[in-house]
Amino acid sequence: MPETNTVIPLHQDIQESTATLAHTFDHAYDEPRRFKVYTARQLDKIEPLQRLDDETRFAMDVVANVLPFRVNEYVINELINWDNVPNDPIYQLTFPQKGMLAPEHFDKVADAMRGGDKTAIKTAIAEVREALNPHPAGQMEHNIPEVDGEKIEGIQHKYNETVLFFPSQGQVCHSYCTFCFRWAQFIGDNDLKIATKEAGQLKKYIQAHPEISDVLITGGDPLVMKTKNLRAHIEPLLELEQIRTIRIGSKALTFWPQRVVSDADAKDLLHLFEEVIASGKHLALMAHYNHWQELQTNIAREAVKRVRATGAVIRAQGPLLAHINDNADDWARLWQTQVELGIIPYYMFVERDTGARHYFEVPLAKAWNIYRDAMKQVSGIARTARGPSMSSHPGKVEIQGVTEINGEKVFALRFIQGRNHDWVQRPFFAKYNEEATWLNHLEPAFGEEKFFFEDELAEMES
Ligand SMILES: *Cc1c(COP(=O)(O)O)cnc(C)c1O
Ligand code: SF4
Repeated sequence: MPETNTVIPLHQDIQESTATLAHTFDHAYDEPRRFKVYTARQLDKIEPLQRLDDETRFAMDVVANVLPFRVNEYVINELINWDNVPNDPIYQLTFPQKGMLAPEHFDKVADAMRGGDKTAIKTAIAEVREALNPHPAGQMEHNIPEVDGEKIEGIQHKYNETVLFFPSQGQVCHSYCTFCFRWAQFIGDNDLKIATKEAGQLKKYIQAHPEISDVLITGGDPLVMKTKNLRAHIEPLLELEQIRTIRIGSKALTFWPQRVVSDADAKDLLHLFEEVIASGKHLALMAHYNHWQELQTNIAREAVKRVRATGAVIRAQGPLLAHINDNADDWARLWQTQVELGIIPYYMFVERDTGARHYFEVPLAKAWNIYRDAMKQVSGIARTARGPSMSSHPGKVEIQGVTEINGEKVFALRFIQGRNHDWVQRPFFAKYNEEATWLNHLEPAFGEEKFFFEDELAEMES
């Protein structure tokens, strides 16, 4: 039996293991690439946008001032098919579109921008942002834990076994997704920013909570951090026997696969992954994917290969989104591609009730049909993604299906995760509602007044 909880320092064994795996790598991609990123102020510097008409460009400018906008050259030049704009899914994923703001919000900001008064522009932007439910599912008020009576930012502990950690240096991404529910963290509002100052606090918190077995390091994107900073967060966790799984939530494999291939500290990052594995813990890279097009470039595939060679497992998750992936064929192809590359499909999410949700949202009934039709096209190996799942206030709620019970058409639902862990896997039913896009649009079936969890949830809150 290997000693699973001993931290094996970075020494020759690990270096050699990389060397033996490395023969399968394609070293054509080892040449470092410049990371060049554009934000709202540099819209006019993005060459392919020049082909759009003035009105479209102005609309983009308006929306980019409200929602986060940041896109890098790799995404622009290699992931977007500009011949397919505006329908290209990666273009929709990264470039602001007029329809992402409600007409009255759009007009408010557009009028202010045409007027040119700086204060008026700022006010209009702030008002519209505030109207967009910047902190869905009680993200700010409900989930901030305490150590020794002191509130600590940068840690969220909602479900028993898993603690979320937001390292302060990882609160940006290599590009931004137009639908991101974390958008309020990116717009420079420091009061609202969920960030942490110390990895030490995390360790202390975990030690005070023996039920925690998983740490999910998230952001933004923790892989924007230099390896040495990520290491400073991860290494202390390797000393904790109670921690069995470390997850890193990231979209770097899509937005900047160079991060694990050719960046100056890419090799060091892969060594860090090996170090985690050598300590006997599970390392999961929770990769955010929305469309198979993200996995078509050679460098994206090379990145997957190199991460997998460390022993880390890549699990894929992402929301179902109108304008990007709201059809079964794209999901089936996404899952099938993932399986072929050795990635395990993990979650299909329902788009959250925040930001540009009215543009991206898909009714729950339609979401379930897409999920089911995609499942039908793949074998069991690719049917590992649970969903469609809503990360709602009481927990992660999965739509299991639409059915009829005693003549009443209902949604069958279950908790994948619950604020009370005793709710996990409990089935419950809601009246069928073709338009509903979120849990709060649903009513209990069979004439019942409340869902089974409502009283308990209210009690937990008081
Ligand atoms: C999804 C989620 C987790 C992880 O849940 P798993 O079912 O273990 O993947 C942990 N914390 C929060 C707040 C989450 O939303
Ligand atoms: S990569 Fe994730 S955190 Fe970053 S913008 Fe996209 S959805 Fe948001």
